[in-house]
Amino acid sequence: MESFNLRTSSRMEFVDITPRVDALVRKGGVSEGLCCVFVPHTTAGLTLNENVDPSVRQDMLMELNKVVPFDDGYSHSEGNSAAHLKSSLMGQSLVVPINGGKLSLGSWQGIYFCEFDGPRLRRVYVTIK
Ligand code: ZN
Repeated sequence: MESFNLRTSSRMEFVDITPRVDALVRKGGVSEGLCCVFVPHTTAGLTLNENVDPSVRQDMLMELNKVVPFDDGYSHSEGNSAAHLKSSLMGQSLVVPINGGKLSLGSWQGIYFCEFDGPRLRRVYVTIK
């Protein structure tokens, strides 16, 4: 398993980690297989989405905040329940097929690390089989 650190810079943001994952896949030497990306965090997540127009990311963050507002009478004393909920909505892992030694992403797809309780130093695990 490979891993890398990621320092986020905002309370909420989507960070395109496609180049970092792609570099590990190319280095991994697996021609046909699977790439599993996992984040060991309860206030962050992962998703695949459009990596060309940054307004897509802005719209996703805006709508996530409508579905899960920062303050809504939550019980959790740490004050970051919204981040925990968004983490579960997005999920903490992704699997992308590897074909010809490369990630089989669609031409518009990117892999996003989803920060919901930043800024923080985060970790991303990548397993290539
Ligand atoms: Zn918490």
